[in-house]
Amino acid sequence: MKNILYESTRGGESGVNASTAILNGLAHDGGLYVPHEIPVLDKTLDELSNMDYKQIANYIMQKFLTDFTASEINECIVKAYDDKFDSNLIAPLISKSDIHFLELFHGPTLAFKDMALTILPHLMKIATHKNGVKEKIVILTATSGDTGKAALEGFADIEGIEIIVFYPQDGVSEIQKKQMTTQTGQNTHVIAIKGNFDDAQNGVKAIYNDKEFNENLFSNGYKLSSANSINIGRLIPQIVYYFSSYIQLCNRKTIKPGENINFVVPTGNFGNILAGFYAKEMGLPINHLICASNENNILYDFFKTGTYDINRKFLTTISPSMDILISSNLERLIYITSGRNSGLTNSYMNNLKRLGCYTLSNDIKEKMLFIHAQYVTEEETMAAIKGVHSKYDYIIDPHTAVAYAAYIKYKAKNVDDTATVILSTASPYKFPKDVLSSINKNIIPNSEFDLIEELSNISNTIVPESIKELMHKPINHNLFCDKLEMKKVVETILKGN
Ligand SMILES: *Cc1c(COP(=O)(O)O)cnc(C)c1O
Repeated sequence: MKNILYESTRGGESGVNASTAILNGLAHDGGLYVPHEIPVLDKTLDELSNMDYKQIANYIMQKFLTDFTASEINECIVKAYDDKFDSNLIAPLISKSDIHFLELFHGPTLAFKDMALTILPHLMKIATHKNGVKEKIVILTATSGDTGKAALEGFADIEGIEIIVFYPQDGVSEIQKKQMTTQTGQNTHVIAIKGNFDDAQNGVKAIYNDKEFNENLFSNGYKLSSANSINIGRLIPQIVYYFSSYIQLCNRKTIKPGENINFVVPTGNFGNILAGFYAKEMGLPINHLICASNENNILYDFFKTGTYDINRKFLTTISPSMDILISSNLERLIYITSGRNSGLTNSYMNNLKRLGCYTLSNDIKEKMLFIHAQYVTEEETMAAIKGVHSKYDYIIDPHTAVAYAAYIKYKAKNVDDTATVILSTASPYKFPKDVLSSINKNIIPNSEFDLIEELSNISNTIVPESIKELMHKPINHNLFCDKLEMKKVVETILKGN
């Protein structure tokens, strides 16, 4: 197997092995780690079609994580994709006549973040042994709702690791908040910040990039890392379900092996769709990746005009996990499509930091044409939930609805009969109020929890265990801070250990 090493998008690091890249999270020059080449398939799609989710995961992850042994990777996969998932398929594909929903929410926290965050802690633990790291690893995480809980659940009580999550006080759903604040585990810390997701993410990035602070932590026995999708260890496990859904379509005879398909990806930080791009580069026949945004439509404008401009209002929507203005993983796409030009990537990112905007050169923009961007309004999102329910008797969450509505818009503008998979990124049980009020406008609940039973009846699905338990769980975390105090909070938490 070809050895794959990692390099920073900003040019300051290269020749880094996978386990070190996972441990570091972010490169020291502020860039993101990318594989120096994307490994390609050396099996036919026919050969893959006999594999189950775990076998595909083994095949793909061995190609990227070449300083892990096959048995180490398998050990992580077995620990991650077990009966924490309430489907044996791990990511079942639900076909509704002409459209296919890839349900990525069957993990313990009911969102697609589980696809990677059930495995990242195991990879990281092995990475610490491999690299002889004696320090305690501190995972700092900014969350727009789903990452936080998935990371807490994944890292809770993992030895040698401390996990600290910052979430925007008013930027997550009631159920998302309760999932986080009821988290158990000696090593878990949850803090609400007065600010939005970008504030949380910027605060976390600033802490990573503060050399003095890091040196200080290091001399006290701590090393920072990340569970956000800036960590390459998050992205690689996400490539797997692009393959597994393709294979499910082949096995159902919806498509023939080799035939192109489209994916519609409800997008925030650009991690999920970037994993789709990697799958395409590996050789999976993907025609278009449709990048779906909510009213925070910065990516739509970017793909249309080539200009990324954050000088705009941040909007709070019913798809909170996509309420993001700075989509970090776009940097990885720019780096690759610019021919791994770290100088150019650096200058764009500097402009973003200094001026809040940058404009791609035309040749780079043209290399991104396989991505189609669409955005949808709040009304269109709600109409999509209602429409899918009446057309297919199937309930989708608001994030998935953004993707579905974006696809409808795409179809209206383009003649394209390619089989298309919508990535369903969260369970509707995480957002009962917005889901039910989209279907029946008269609902005025006291609490989202009052609506769980009704959602179960309407959707003909059983209430997930984790939601049932949540109603009675005690709150274990009630810290909050200003967005400017995050560094101090980290210090205080680690001192108290
Ligand atoms: C995180 C998240 C997204 C956005 O995914 P990115 O990888 O950040 O683009 C979409 N939907 C849900 C439910 C999420 O939790």
